[in-house]
Amino acid sequence: MPDESKIALNCPCCGEPIYETLNWFKQSASICPACDKGLTADQFTAVIDDLEQAIDTSIEERICEPPHTSCCGKNSSCCKNH
Ligand SMILES: [Zn+2]
Repeated sequence: MPDESKIALNCPCCGEPIYETLNWFKQSASICPACDKGLTADQFTAVIDDLEQAIDTSIEERICEPPHTSCCGKNSSCCKNH
């Protein structure tokens, strides 16, 4: 997956959600936009690992999913109309 995807993680200092790219959280030093505290990549490593594993799993599930299966069992485009 592209690292430019935006994700939301809670700031370890103030608990506010930070909506930034994966690369932003991976940089060695960053500043929380909510509380202006300095953050390091170490503070996000564990949660990013979990997140990337979850993303990998969901992509694999989507690939393995039979094409004729959808939310209503009729056609794949119906989900967009709900
Ligand atoms: Zn913060």
